[in-house]
Amino acid sequence: MADCLFCKIAAGEIPSKKLFEDECLLAFYDIDPQAPVHFLVIPKRHIDSAAALKETDAELVGHIYTVIADLCRQLGVADSGYRVVTNVGEDGGQSVGHLHFHVLAGRSLAWPPG
Ligand code: AMP
Ligand code: ZN
Repeated sequence: MADCLFCKIAAGEIPSKKLFEDECLLAFYDIDPQAPVHFLVIPKRHIDSAAALKETDAELVGHIYTVIADLCRQLGVADSGYRVVTNVGEDGGQSVGHLHFHVLAGRSLAWPPG
């Protein structure tokens, strides 16, 4: 999508602190971290949000969660735990309109969220 920040990051047009990349997704550190470990995982293909997912995206979403688990093991936070969050729409707190999964770890995270 022409004017999408995360499409530009996925295409390498805007730099990011990359953690992992394959043919369908990119993981990179959040520019404004909310925990000692805070990275984002995005599909390279533009999808507006989790609300726009289709049945045919099931494999992609499963792959994203598998990569998140692998990365958390590599970063040494799998045992202490982590949180995966995808914000949807205005009330959900979504500020970038390209599906992304926040991964937060490295401290005890409060529940419920604010
Ligand atoms: P959300 O508010 O759930 O849509 O999350 C968007 C996230 O993208 C926020 O946590 C921002 O800090 C993060 N963000 C915005 N611009 C960038 C960027 N250029 N590189 C990395 N993370 C970014
Ligand atoms: Zn996009």
